[in-house]
Amino acid sequence: MNEIPIQVPIPIPPSPCLKCGACCAAFKVCIQESEIDNIDGGYIPEGMTIKVSALSMVMKGTDRKSPRCVALSGGIGVNAKCSIYEKRPNVCRNFIMSCENGMPNDMCDRARARYGLIAFSAW
Ligand code: SF4
Ligand code: SF4
Repeated sequence: MNEIPIQVPIPIPPSPCLKCGACCAAFKVCIQESEIDNIDGGYIPEGMTIKVSALSMVMKGTDRKSPRCVALSGGIGVNAKCSIYEKRPNVCRNFIMSCENGMPNDMCDRARARYGLIAFSAW
């Protein structure tokens, strides 16, 4: 009788983004009005957003000289966490960690450098 080989699952390492959060405290996070939950189909909590001009809305806290998104909890590079992860803006969903897809992301690298964290493109 042939033995069935046991398949050992290969653990997937957790994403470095889970603790980092540097990009959430480095840039203006622009959003579309249609993403806000006071509109049908919207999901971002309205109270976490702010209108900065007639045509422009951002996540609160990111329109400052030293930005930090209001939805970010924890310490950068330690235990940072997006408190609205399932409801985060499109721009956050589309932000790719440097080298995640084999390509560097200068914005990720610069955000991490701001907090003394090594750039993934430097590894
Ligand atoms: S700065 Fe880069 S590594 Fe850090 S949370 Fe943002 S995308 Fe992830
Ligand atoms: S909404 Fe979440 S993912 Fe987007 S900048 Fe704020 S804390 Fe970061």
